[in-house]
Amino acid sequence: MNQPRYAVIGDPIGHSLSPVMQNTFFACMDQPGEMVPIHVKKGEVPAFFSSLEEEGIRGFNVTMPHKEAAMLCCDELDDVARLTRSVNCVVRTEEKHAVGYNTDAEGLRLAVEREGFSYEGQDILILGAGAVTRPIAYTMAQTARSITFANRTQSAAEEAADFLKEHTECVTFSCDFSTEVLSAAASESTMLINATPLGMQGVDAQFEDLSFLDALTENAPVIDLIYRPACTAFLAYAKEKNHPVMNGLTMLLMQGALSFRHFTGVMPDEGALKAAYEILKNA
Ligand code: NAP
Repeated sequence: MNQPRYAVIGDPIGHSLSPVMQNTFFACMDQPGEMVPIHVKKGEVPAFFSSLEEEGIRGFNVTMPHKEAAMLCCDELDDVARLTRSVNCVVRTEEKHAVGYNTDAEGLRLAVEREGFSYEGQDILILGAGAVTRPIAYTMAQTARSITFANRTQSAAEEAADFLKEHTECVTFSCDFSTEVLSAAASESTMLINATPLGMQGVDAQFEDLSFLDALTENAPVIDLIYRPACTAFLAYAKEKNHPVMNGLTMLLMQGALSFRHFTGVMPDEGALKAAYEILKNA
């Protein structure tokens, strides 16, 4: 019997760890299904949606740069996907409706909890104001005390802050990316998140000066959304200063687990999560 087909789309797509993760979940949870990577170029997302019936694809994950294009093609959206214009998981219903979800935001929240941290009551400093920041910040804003966006292009930080002001009750600030300004913001923060690609494998750019971390509130958790390398220079510096740290691998795992639940109706159990985590860590 043919397995139900699932996909992950992106441009490029060869590097995606979603197939190996989802196929581990299918095997461990004894659920029928197989995920394959499909290279969908920019501008071809609507055509991909039109091909779902013919290709027999029941659901799929969406990675860069298609999260907004996918949102525009869905028939229904969950709240985070609609408000933040970002879809990373699509499921087809029996009525052939494409329902779009954002599992990045809830995935990071679950990952943070899994590592023993919480957004509740925190003053969170987010470095970056790109595609992933709106969904994650919107979810943080439900329980955090304040959120500050620091970004190289300050207007993008301002827009992210305005978005939260419009849609949440959270106190929100924005600032630029100079070391002095980052130091001042860090001194007021109890949680720090890197949502830029600085320090990522394959990216040349690095933080030029990490001394703003010296000003961060003692014991504040420091999170890097990057998972390759496992320990960036940013995380290594924070560790040296005795901050508890986490990288982006558990977020990758948990957004995948939530996607699997949308695909199959079943959340991967602890054994499946651990098996997939080990495979991702060594991939
Ligand atoms: P994006 O939309 O491309 O945004 C990148 C952000 O980084 C922008 O705010 C950009 O600032 C800033 N930036 C880029 N180069 C910079 C530099 N040289 N100096 C200072 N700032 C710089 O990317 P994204 O989708 O938001 O993703 C951000 C990070 O999160 C990436 O590292 C990605 O791998 C990671 N991520 C991880 C997961 C996971 O599951 N762990 C999921 C999603 C994303 P400007 O506005 O000035 O350009």
